[in-house]
Amino acid sequence: MEIVRCTQCQRNYIPPKYACPSCGGTRFKPSEIEGKGIIESFTTIWIAPEQHLDQVPYQLIVVKLDEALRVTGRLAGPAEGLAIGARVEFTEKNEIGYWFRLAKGKAHDTKR
Ligand SMILES: [Zn+2]
Repeated sequence: MEIVRCTQCQRNYIPPKYACPSCGGTRFKPSEIEGKGIIESFTTIWIAPEQHLDQVPYQLIVVKLDEALRVTGRLAGPAEGLAIGARVEFTEKNEIGYWFRLAKGKAHDTKR
């Protein structure tokens, strides 16, 4: 999963910024992260914009990545086990946005 990192203070961001809110730096370099994290909140969408009507119901999720970044994405695959605190992993980014799937295993890892 691609993010950007401030070359001055090494903070990570999604999406790219023009200037780093932390140090004011304006130089960023792309950086790869694993894209694993936990679900911080989620909403099931039943009434969608026209271009997504064929996809309802679908889940919008807010993921807190292990790198302490927060990103809004979509849940890919079955929603069984979907819960706040559940582990997810990044699968792809497309024109809709970031996609995550529920990670296998128990959802007990809520440290941080
Ligand atoms: Zn910075």
